[in-house]
Amino acid sequence: MSSSATVRPQAVVFDLGKVLLDFDYRIAARALAPQSRFDAEQFKRVLDQSPLLHRYESGGIGTADFFAEVCQLTGYHGSLADFRAAFGDIFAEIPAMVELHRQLRERGVPTFIFSNTNEIAVGHVRQRFPFFNGLTGYIFSHEVGCMKPGARIYAAIEEITGRTGAELLYLDDREENIAAGAAREWQTILHHDPAVTVPDVWRRLG
Ligand SMILES: [Mg+2]
Repeated sequence: MSSSATVRPQAVVFDLGKVLLDFDYRIAARALAPQSRFDAEQFKRVLDQSPLLHRYESGGIGTADFFAEVCQLTGYHGSLADFRAAFGDIFAEIPAMVELHRQLRERGVPTFIFSNTNEIAVGHVRQRFPFFNGLTGYIFSHEVGCMKPGARIYAAIEEITGRTGAELLYLDDREENIAAGAAREWQTILHHDPAVTVPDVWRRLG
């Protein structure tokens, strides 16, 4: 749509991982592996981008079943509390993007989190990163029961924002997720570098 870039966005929709927060499952794997029969590299493969994580983040299983399967697969024999702490502690703020979010809120722009995620990660991020509690709304894959780029989770954003098409400005680091937003005529930015993304957001907001 050639006209979409001229529409002023009414809400900014943020992917979380690699946009507002960096993450690294190697940190969790290194912490958890000593209490299992796996080394850190093997443990990471159980967690990161795995079919098991996919089932957890699409709401197919809850935390108790996810934990039970991790224990069964890896021989992990620590407590659920220890697992929670290690599995959640993989995030670090991306300062320039958190600052962009702060300035958007200061200007009264509604902001939303739109994330393929899970209950442990959300609980950890809420406690650890104050900015995360200051958004207008949240759409999480494990609550919707659908992961990006599935259509149903995009419809959930349109419902919670009350906006459609070019009124939404969506930032994500994954091409397939951005493509699904663009197909709904949302304004999109495939995020790689805050130095490129931040001025692009302000340009569109005018
Ligand atoms: Mg991401």
